[in-house]
Amino acid sequence: TGKFFVGGNWKCNGTKDSIRKLVADLNSAKLEVDVDVVVAPPFLYLDQVKSSLTDRIELSSQNSWVGKGGAFTGEISVEQLKDIGATWVILGHSERRHVIGEDDQFIGKKAAYALSEGLGVIACIGEKLEEREGGKTFDVCFQQLKAFADAVPSWDKIVVAYEPVWAIGTGKVASPEQAQEVHVAVRDWLKQNVSAEVASKTRIIYGGSVNGGNSAELAKKEDIDGFLVGGASLKGPEFATIVNSVT
Ligand code: 13P
Repeated sequence: TGKFFVGGNWKCNGTKDSIRKLVADLNSAKLEVDVDVVVAPPFLYLDQVKSSLTDRIELSSQNSWVGKGGAFTGEISVEQLKDIGATWVILGHSERRHVIGEDDQFIGKKAAYALSEGLGVIACIGEKLEEREGGKTFDVCFQQLKAFADAVPSWDKIVVAYEPVWAIGTGKVASPEQAQEVHVAVRDWLKQNVSAEVASKTRIIYGGSVNGGNSAELAKKEDIDGFLVGGASLKGPEFATIVNSVT
């Protein structure tokens, strides 16, 4: 697999002031040279972050509209994201699936459109607690993965983020073994259903209560190629620790 990849998903957090401080902390942090680092501020602050953050860190949005812009009240288009300097978009995050109600097909379309316009896609998948307890973890992840696979023409600019819903924002991190088990299954699914090349090249990153204290153990697992960090990405020094936990 490629370079270690660490994304910070700021979700719906921050103010001009708090983001100014976070950017200053990120600018002064020592980040390992060999890691792709991306942050995803709320739409409103993308411009502020782009104009103040070091070029060492790439910019992502947390969502995008499914097609070309126009009469779509309240939406943000891929073209606008590119205009402001974003190079990635997070799609299929569990909060958009389960809180806002986006479905597999809509998410797949968004991914295809964003890729067609040149953005990289952080494609999120993951099971809920009752699905894990019901032995459906792989089924759920594979179905979500298939929706991406059915929609996109190429995997060159896709990073898969495995984020078990029960681990998001709960402080209950998946064990390195639990994460590794799903990452291996995802890689195997890609091998069977896309290609051996895509399976070996695609980075599969883990998200869900990653912090400065647990990232190093997770990063040791062979198929964990990086992280998507929520809460801990709002603290510059801790986020830097996570970035630097690559092995
Ligand atoms: P937390 O790190 O806050 O659990 O959030 C994970 C996440 O959803 C990243 O996209």
